[in-house]
Amino acid sequence: MPDKVDSYFCPRDNAPLCRPTESNRSAFSDHGIFNCPECSGMLLNAEAASNSITESKLKEMHKAFESDCDQVDLDCPCCDSKMRVRNIVFKRINGTDMEPLELDGCPQCNTFWFDSGELQSLIGPEIKPYEEPEREASALLMALELLILLPHKFV
Ligand SMILES: [Zn+2]
Ligand SMILES: [Zn+2]
Repeated sequence: MPDKVDSYFCPRDNAPLCRPTESNRSAFSDHGIFNCPECSGMLLNAEAASNSITESKLKEMHKAFESDCDQVDLDCPCCDSKMRVRNIVFKRINGTDMEPLELDGCPQCNTFWFDSGELQSLIGPEIKPYEEPEREASALLMALELLILLPHKFV
């Protein structure tokens, strides 16, 4: 893993990715999560997850991207492979399914890309995105951390 944050770029708009300011108290280590200041997308890297629950969960998710699924025109920020897309459904704590979410994953390394619109739709349409990229990143990071611990299936 490169040490420099500015070595990763957003696969959507090429903006240099930054670390969410609150990543120090997150399930993701400094090198495990990045956000895009332009589009508020989130990059996750399982190799760099700060705890084993998160890491094993993400590695399990990664398996779905190794087999055939649609390739998308996104270059993995970590290894430059073409990413793939799958629809993933997370289960709420009460057992019901959430709306399917489009998740981009790298078939080579354990990297995932969440578009902010996808995460925002889970938080709820009634909650407006923050104007400030930093606050928006924190809000999405919190949503993502809860999400990642829930059971999921690919559809
Ligand atoms: Zn972006
Ligand atoms: Zn990759």
